[in-house]
Amino acid sequence: MTWEERWHPLREEWVVIAAHRQDRPWSGDTLKREQKTLPEYAPDCYLCPGNPRVSGRSNPKYDQIFVFDNDHPSVALDAPQIEQPAADIYKSRPATGIARVVCYSPRHDLTLTELELPQIERLLGTWQEQYAELGERPEIEHVLIFENKGDAVGVSNPHPHCQVYANNFVFRTIENEVQTSKKYFIDTGDVLFQEIIRAEQQDGRRIIAENDSAIAFIPYFARYAYEVFVAPKETHPSIAAMSPKEVGDFADVLKSVLVKFDNLWQMPFPYVMPLHQAPTDGGDHSSFHFHIEFHPPLRKPNLLKYLAGPEIGGGNFLSDTSPEEKATELQALPSIHYKETKG
Ligand SMILES: [Zn+2]
Ligand SMILES: [Zn+2]
Repeated sequence: MTWEERWHPLREEWVVIAAHRQDRPWSGDTLKREQKTLPEYAPDCYLCPGNPRVSGRSNPKYDQIFVFDNDHPSVALDAPQIEQPAADIYKSRPATGIARVVCYSPRHDLTLTELELPQIERLLGTWQEQYAELGERPEIEHVLIFENKGDAVGVSNPHPHCQVYANNFVFRTIENEVQTSKKYFIDTGDVLFQEIIRAEQQDGRRIIAENDSAIAFIPYFARYAYEVFVAPKETHPSIAAMSPKEVGDFADVLKSVLVKFDNLWQMPFPYVMPLHQAPTDGGDHSSFHFHIEFHPPLRKPNLLKYLAGPEIGGGNFLSDTSPEEKATELQALPSIHYKETKG
């Protein structure tokens, strides 16, 4: 049983791996879970084609991917001006930005996992366009694309979609990775993320999927039980810089990971999935290596990883599982989705 501290080089912090604390590994029985069967179209879903949204606007009868400005945006170009300036050390400013929603498919009942490869590739194309278009704007410093999936992370509408936050600041995690990558490059002349990929390939135990130009692995320093990184092998600051061949390979590896996730407990696997992309603040981010991180909240089908004293109180993660063991579980799973194998 792994019991040690591991250094997270992108965050420059220790992760405590205390796998000796967990119960016996989950046996692998199929979960007897009530699976809600969703309709292909839901009349009361604000993301389904043709349906009205809270703004009063209606969705077009889209048949592929549909992008729109969020009706309840956290940031907006017309966010209110600050009326009362903050006193002394406090500061405030308008919440300037653009918030969008991307519907992956007109089908209410599908998830990213169940989309066909060409549809996933098309979605990656949409992410490229959104990053390029929004990042181009002078008031936008960073584009955060992310999907929250499942009740476990507070998502009530199952319609497959992600969000785009184009903000006037760089999110903290990205800023952190930018700084560590830059520092590493100045010190060594190498790209930090390349070194991580190399280390994972040399070890091999935590690789979940790999092809010509893309790779997925549970990093050595994983903070969540089933935390998976998906990345192109070449360094690109953003998804927008990837070639069509790389996008195809990336889609393929991404799909394998997603299918394994669902197959793990034979249920739609919940996660927070951010794209980690370089800021669009005009700086030199050539040492930043685009990747997707999956942060799954569950350790077992009905067991949440609670963020508590160490994580919220102290700011460092305590993981109750060993990355090698969790990678072995995922590696052993079939690459065909369980719904397809059931007649
Ligand atoms: Zn829907
Ligand atoms: Zn990252």
